[in-house]
Amino acid sequence: MPSFTGRCHCGETEWTVELPEESQAHVLCHCDACKLLSGGETTLNQIVPKDALKITKGTLKTYTYSGDSGKPVHCYYCPNCTTHPYHHQTVMGDDLIVVRTGLLQGSKSFKVAVEIYGKDRLGWQPEVAHTFEGPPPS
Ligand SMILES: [Zn+2]
Ligand SMILES: [Zn+2]
Repeated sequence: MPSFTGRCHCGETEWTVELPEESQAHVLCHCDACKLLSGGETTLNQIVPKDALKITKGTLKTYTYSGDSGKPVHCYYCPNCTTHPYHHQTVMGDDLIVVRTGLLQGSKSFKVAVEIYGKDRLGWQPEVAHTFEGPPPS
């Protein structure tokens, strides 16, 4: 399985993510929580099995908020520089996590698979892939 390496801005934490070919693509999320957490207009994500991610350096801290579902979302971030490599949406069960694909080396060539939370899209941002107005259908 191809493995991709991520590194936070300060370098205190590093990780690897195994991504099969069909998952080597970004899911763009336009939701307002992602705007606040990232400071950008979207985040770049992929859903992966929990054991596809390995933290290879450092220890991440956790920030928890209540997601759209009302269930907790646990965000994992570097305690020094706040880069946020992944989060766990408990509504998705215990075995799946969401990794930030934009932080992985080699991901610049990834295509956009789909866009979600299109209802929160900023008006000037073009649609680049099929868009769901809310969360992805499960
Ligand atoms: Zn860091
Ligand atoms: Zn989002």
